[in-house]
Amino acid sequence: MTEGILDGKLALVAGVANKRSIAWAIAQALHGAGARLAFTYQGDRLEDSVRKLAETVGSDVVVPCDVSSDESIEAAFDQLGQRLGGLDILAHSIAFAPAESFEGRFIDTSRHAFVTALDISAYSMVAMARSAEPLMAPRGGGAMVTLTYMASERAFPKYNVMAVAKAGLECSVRYLAYELGPAQIRVNAISAGPVRTLAAKGIPGFDQMEAVIEARSPLQRNIEAGDVGNAALYLCSPLASMVTGTTLYVDSGYHAMGM
Ligand code: NAP
Repeated sequence: MTEGILDGKLALVAGVANKRSIAWAIAQALHGAGARLAFTYQGDRLEDSVRKLAETVGSDVVVPCDVSSDESIEAAFDQLGQRLGGLDILAHSIAFAPAESFEGRFIDTSRHAFVTALDISAYSMVAMARSAEPLMAPRGGGAMVTLTYMASERAFPKYNVMAVAKAGLECSVRYLAYELGPAQIRVNAISAGPVRTLAAKGIPGFDQMEAVIEARSPLQRNIEAGDVGNAALYLCSPLASMVTGTTLYVDSGYHAMGM
């Protein structure tokens, strides 16, 4: 049903670390719908694996981008502009907080951990959106999507400062949607249930999160990365042409529950 719905569209997927990454599931969904893909990766360590994955979806546009550096973001978007000639879709699937911030009490979060988590996990969306805007606006608009988690709204033990970063990210989505709306650029977030990825390994109690979803969510089973990929495809496609500034839950309905 969605085959060809993104024919001719240019999409940047940021945050592929390996084939388990949510970003990779998004890339596959966008590719399946006809989009031409480009990728960013953080450091030399990941270049080979991202290039190999990119090849399998017919892409050789793979550029470095460390979102903790303005220069790196600017250089990446310069290259993307030259290689693609514009952009229609930005999928931002990036987060980081120092490991120790998941271990102790939230109250003991260091200034450094707080600033780092907010910088990499929330500010990076603002910075990438700013660089993407001039590539999208001349094409008549575009769509941006980012990944969040419900710990932004309620206390999830040990998610700690990352929850604060996700709250900042969701709020940023609303402001970006407001400011970019006149250029017909839509900005949305997906609040995903737990998915076993590299980043998830760093979260204590992850097994328990999965068990709770099975026991208490309306659908009584855990989501897969592909479910998030499909939701991202919807948000980035004309099917969601009047949807912006929102958070879409892909969490087996868990957010609807009181207990
Ligand atoms: P993942 O595969 O580990 O992806 C996280 C990505 O962020 C990696 O590619 C990582 O690169 C990148 N990143 C970290 N610091 C960066 C930097 N300075 N510059 C550029 N990239 C950087 O894990 P994931 O679970 O798919 O995470 C993707 C998104 O989904 C995150 O925003 C996460 O919070 C969100 N999410 C995940 C879950 C879940 O249960 N997995 C649930 C809800 C939301 P490196 O590997 O090089 O650090």
